Amino acid sequence: MTSATPAPTTMLVPDFPFSYDSWLAHPAGLGSLPAGRAGTPVAVVGAGMAGLTAAYELMRLGLRPVLYEVERIGGRMRSVPFPADPDRVADMGAMRFPVSSRALFHYIGLLGLSTRPFPNPLSPATPGTLIDLNGRREWARTAEDLPAVFQEVAEAWEKTLQERAELSTLSSAIRQRDTATLKLVWNRLVAAFDDQSFYGFLAGSPAFRSFRHREIFGQVGFGSGGWDTDFPNSVLEVLRVVATEADAHQMLLVGGAEQLPRGLWEHRPGSLAHWPRGTSLASLHNGSPLPGVTAIRQAAEGFRLTDRSGATRTYPAVVYTPHVWTLLHRVSCPPGLLPAEHWTAVERTHYMGASKLFVLTDRPFWRDVAPGGGRETMGMTLTDRLARGVYLFDDGPDRPGVMCLSYTWNDDSLKVATLSAEERLAVLLERLAEIYPGVDIASHVLGDPVTVTWETEPHFMGAFKANLPGQYRYQRRLFTHFLQDGLAPAQRGLFLCGDDISWTAGFAEGAVTTALNAVWGVVRHLGGSSAAGNPGPGDLFSELAPVELPEG
Ligand SMILES: Cc1cc2nc3c(=O)[nH]c(=O)nc-3n(C[C@H](O)[C@H](O)[C@H](O)COP(=O)(O)OP(=O)(O)OC[C@H]3O[C@@H](n4cnc5c(N)ncnc54)[C@H](O)[C@@H]3O)c2cc1C
Repeated sequence: MTSATPAPTTMLVPDFPFSYDSWLAHPAGLGSLPAGRAGTPVAVVGAGMAGLTAAYELMRLGLRPVLYEVERIGGRMRSVPFPADPDRVADMGAMRFPVSSRALFHYIGLLGLSTRPFPNPLSPATPGTLIDLNGRREWARTAEDLPAVFQEVAEAWEKTLQERAELSTLSSAIRQRDTATLKLVWNRLVAAFDDQSFYGFLAGSPAFRSFRHREIFGQVGFGSGGWDTDFPNSVLEVLRVVATEADAHQMLLVGGAEQLPRGLWEHRPGSLAHWPRGTSLASLHNGSPLPGVTAIRQAAEGFRLTDRSGATRTYPAVVYTPHVWTLLHRVSCPPGLLPAEHWTAVERTHYMGASKLFVLTDRPFWRDVAPGGGRETMGMTLTDRLARGVYLFDDGPDRPGVMCLSYTWNDDSLKVATLSAEERLAVLLERLAEIYPGVDIASHVLGDPVTVTWETEPHFMGAFKANLPGQYRYQRRLFTHFLQDGLAPAQRGLFLCGDDISWTAGFAEGAVTTALNAVWGVVRHLGGSSAAGNPGPGDLFSELAPVELPEG
């Protein structure tokens, strides 16, 4: 493609650069099934973003998706109403969506949901940003307002990416959807860096020779803020985020992220195979999904699923979306359900922890001019102390405001994991009073806070997957599970998908795209095929396949 304006970046993940957005938008549709298969039930375990995407597309194809959900529709797209005003919600999981998430935005557009820029650090959607590091505070509206050392850090990051990770070539290949170049470069990087932590990658760069620069980078990072909690992770995880601009140009969903999976549950598609016009997932389920799954067993006709009510049903195909650790204890299953090497990948799966605490306020008081003038009372805050990240959301001067008083990952999340909501609020207000002396946040708070720690949630056990150094091969096994030719016949028909299976865990785009892989797999498993002229992810697999690293 040649044009004066650069093509937009998509989350064309370099490990498997399939254009899911084009596949979804193609007028020929995603495929078709043999006539006798219409209305065949397919189990979909989990009603989060992956489960709803898979169920919605399976319904459109004429199958009968049967959703099971142990908690509530939405999964990690969880919007919780404030006790003091249930019309206002806090996004406890996903809350900011990069515009490069083209498949996710396909569904946001389908439902007509409103978006607006997310108030990230130093973004135009943020009143101002306060950086509190090593006891020193800097206030800035744009990066240029910060002291020179911050520019040096930004330049060091840019230089490191260009010199060590061929970023310009990667970015340009993603924009042009030049998959051959993308794979050539990325496959080289996978081989070079799979065993490298993010911190090791930085420390090995001449541009980051200074500890002070690495420390500031860990605190301020890029895009959405500090990245030091990702320092132990494989650097490949971070390079994917940078190359696909997953941490840039992020939008929030006005009214909460949960509207997206809930919207798919209610939506009546305009074009449907087999089902009468007006059919929705909600109507197929008489209003609610089946209870959580407790057991999966192989059977002559496919898979037998038992749910919490004790009922057992058999399906020719199953789409499984929860955290894969649930297969280790919450859902009873035989060792032969997956190949041994897939179980190893399940066991080795590594999750990031995350905690958040939100409060509702009487109004966006942080926009008041601070005593002494010149700037607002509070800004989006990045601190190396307990709160780590404070985000501010306002709907205008006369309406209540929402403050995310703390968003943390890993060790920072564990620090508060055993505290009650009230204890968390008290300690966060104390810490923030040290950063903003004289600002009485508590006097503006309406009602009780809402909080979460994902690693202690019984059906999640973590926020999202993040591979450690040396785990590329495990991710590859899980991701490629939707292509089942190499599996024993009794293992075919079960499709793992969702955040854990994706190359870009922690971004809902990966939940959507792996669900689409599962849809392709189910259609093929049931004897169907892709639409002429619109090859699906499995059809292009050999061309786009993730590179194989030697096992020996
Ligand atoms: C703190 C946090 C912040 C995030 N921030 C962002 C962000 O800003 N932007 C972004 O794009 N993404 C973000 N993400 C990632 C995004 O939320 C996920 O990628 C996406 O929501 C995952 O969807 P999923 O369907 O794969 O999994 P889930 O949403 O976890 O869905 C799985 C479902 O399975 C259910 N379940 C579990 N066990 C069973 C069982 N036995 N039977 C039946 N059902 C079961 C669960 O209750 C759940 O509803 C964030 C996630 C977290 C946790």
